[in-house]
Amino acid sequence: MNALRRIVFVDRDGTLIEEPADEQVDSLAKFRLVRDVVPALRALRDAGFELVMVTNQDGLGSASFPVTAFEPPQRLLLEILETQGVSFSAVHVDSTTALAPGPGRKPAVGMLLDYLREGRLDFARSAVVGDRDTDVELARNLGVRGFRLGTDGDWPAIARAIVRAERAAAVERNTAETRVRVAVDLDREAPATVATGVGFFDHMLEQLGRHGGFALTVHTTGDLHVDEHHVVEDTALALGEALAQALGEKRGIARYGFSPLTDAPEAELRSSAPQPNPPLRSQGRETSALEPSPASAGAQSFPSPPNAGEGRVGCSTTCEFELPMDEASARALLDLGGRPYFVFEGRFPRESVGGLPTELVPHFFRSLADGLRATLHLRVTGENTHHMVEACFKSTARALRQAVKREGTLLPSTKEAL
Ligand SMILES: [Mg+2]
Repeated sequence: MNALRRIVFVDRDGTLIEEPADEQVDSLAKFRLVRDVVPALRALRDAGFELVMVTNQDGLGSASFPVTAFEPPQRLLLEILETQGVSFSAVHVDSTTALAPGPGRKPAVGMLLDYLREGRLDFARSAVVGDRDTDVELARNLGVRGFRLGTDGDWPAIARAIVRAERAAAVERNTAETRVRVAVDLDREAPATVATGVGFFDHMLEQLGRHGGFALTVHTTGDLHVDEHHVVEDTALALGEALAQALGEKRGIARYGFSPLTDAPEAELRSSAPQPNPPLRSQGRETSALEPSPASAGAQSFPSPPNAGEGRVGCSTTCEFELPMDEASARALLDLGGRPYFVFEGRFPRESVGGLPTELVPHFFRSLADGLRATLHLRVTGENTHHMVEACFKSTARALRQAVKREGTLLPSTKEAL
């Protein structure tokens, strides 16, 4: 479980309530909410962000700005937001002035040291929202993203930008056997850059990035003089970990993936009929991945069901889609639910293809599931080993593409954690 706190530090005057010409909200007559602020704060709340108010109130408590003048508008603001389902976990007010600034006056971080000391602040996803340069400077001083209302858009635009934080990660994995560097960006499509020393494996990883719809860079060096095992395994573990890091809390994702996607090229889509046999036999993690099974005895064809096209939309866990590769076909079912589990069914006619031992194909996906902490069911049939392996990578990529897709802001789990 991700225990990091994703916090939006929100300025008050000019950000939550409009700032009057004299820059001092000291009466209810000066109270006016900033446009669209309530739905934006609700969107941040729904996306799992904690809200903290951070405000400079120059000279608060002095004769020119008594606390009794500050309190009514402040109380009204908090009450209005509370009735709309928005609450702040903390309110920090600095009363020093620009002429005699205290350690807590923005852009200094004095009022927020506890968040830094606690060590749980999610720097990549937290943010500061304000209407002045000092708010953006505060963000810089904290090491989080800064958004200036007006300059960086209105409240709806800023809320969207905060929620849709970059989903990218880079992982380095160094052992005595391998050195692996993997970088992924789930929201950017780009040609994959892959170099592992195993040509066919490189080609398969490129397929994973291309059909997964994400930018992928993999650079692995390892003990290929021994064999390909460590290079393949450690690359898969690092890739899984990078994907898991990029997904973060996984809020808003589809979570489940069935290959292929509904928007996949038509030539690659084929919907199989309901299986005449019982569903895939569950195999424990200690069971041989290449154990023969009736379903993998060779290429099989099933007539298309009359409603094949309809089945591509809004499918549930009972949907069965397959990705064809000439005579071969592969099916991948994926759940990014946080529990690693791998089921494989298939038998490759050849022991290796393009320098890649086929026994490492299921091992790759099992290690990927481990690193990604995902459940992956993969079945492949066919006659041509090249086609079969490629179908495995493409179908898993398509399932991944679907599962990481952002559909909203809620966590796709009643446990409220994945
Ligand atoms: Mg302000």
